[in-house]
Amino acid sequence: MRAVLALLGFAHALRAPQPVLRARRSSALSASGGPPQYDKVDATLVANEVVGRGSHLLRLESETPLEYKPGHVLALEFEEGGEWLKGPYTVSRASESTFDVVIRVVGKKSEAYAAAAVGSKWRFGGKFHVPISEGIAARADRVVCVSTGTGFGPVLGFAEDALAAADDLKVTVLAGFREVDDVCCKDAVQRLCVTYPDRFECAYVVSSSSGRVSSPGALASVAAVADAKTHFHLIGNGAMVNEWTAGLKAGGVPEDLVTTETYFNHKDEPDAAVVDRIAAAIIAGRVDVSPPQRGAVTQLEGGVMI
Ligand SMILES: Cc1cc2nc3c(=O)[nH]c(=O)nc-3n(C[C@H](O)[C@H](O)[C@H](O)COP(=O)(O)OP(=O)(O)OC[C@H]3O[C@@H](n4cnc5c(N)ncnc54)[C@H](O)[C@@H]3O)c2cc1C
Repeated sequence: MRAVLALLGFAHALRAPQPVLRARRSSALSASGGPPQYDKVDATLVANEVVGRGSHLLRLESETPLEYKPGHVLALEFEEGGEWLKGPYTVSRASESTFDVVIRVVGKKSEAYAAAAVGSKWRFGGKFHVPISEGIAARADRVVCVSTGTGFGPVLGFAEDALAAADDLKVTVLAGFREVDDVCCKDAVQRLCVTYPDRFECAYVVSSSSGRVSSPGALASVAAVADAKTHFHLIGNGAMVNEWTAGLKAGGVPEDLVTTETYFNHKDEPDAAVVDRIAAAIIAGRVDVSPPQRGAVTQLEGGVMI
């Protein structure tokens, strides 16, 4: 399905505003003095669900009370063949006793994680980075989240919490995937579209057919909604994060309105032409004296939208 737009016309539930948003920047996971240290906590895998091709949502439960939020990064460990495989993963959702991570199967560790049985024993630890909601500048009334791949998971968890906590916040998501089958977490997207039809909008941008999240069509849709009170959260492939970070800076977006999280390709050099394109689109949208007309993202070249 391509270039499909369906605006969902259901009534939405607004909840009482709560001042949960504060300005703070993300931080790097690795300390310069070596790998991050953490106490190991036991956990049990209570769900392992395929949420898109090669993408799994893992839910871990612990008897130790938890205080995670979407965007926190933790160290996740699983034993295979007598070896503890470990790596950093980002919390998509959390309760007092469980947390969800969405993983993409790309190598030995993620293959083992994705094949793990419900009931298997795991370890985790640490609480790194600032959760997405706490990085959002207090003056922001819209958050544009740009994600690639499984970076979509924490974005959706953030949207669920933030839209429930404040009735004047809007969330726009550009979720980049390589193929249509790679699109993940559609159920969560649909729930958000139905619950917050006026405050949540999401476009899937499929790079194999329509270009990346920095394609002219995708940028035009961001320019149509972004203004001086728009916060940007960038998460996933470093190639995208670095290009957008540079483009937003060149477009005059203040540093406190940008937060980032990079999963891989940290050192990818931004393409100057793409940076210029992002900057031009953002400048066009940030007409502070006369804000652009707001509304749903309605067009994405070749994108798929629920
Ligand atoms: C702060 C931080 C948070 C992270 N959070 C998540 C998360 O929530 N979900 C998640 O799936 N991964 C996440 N990662 C990546 C994760 O830690 C592993 O690198 C990943 O699971 C690959 O490990 P592997 O051993 O299976 O494959 P490897 O052999 O280590 O990697 C194979 C290739 O896949 C690339 N790659 C790594 N991660 C991804 C990915 N997510 N999607 C596509 N390609 C990738 C690598 O660049 C490499 O070229 C995060 C990384 C960091 C630094």
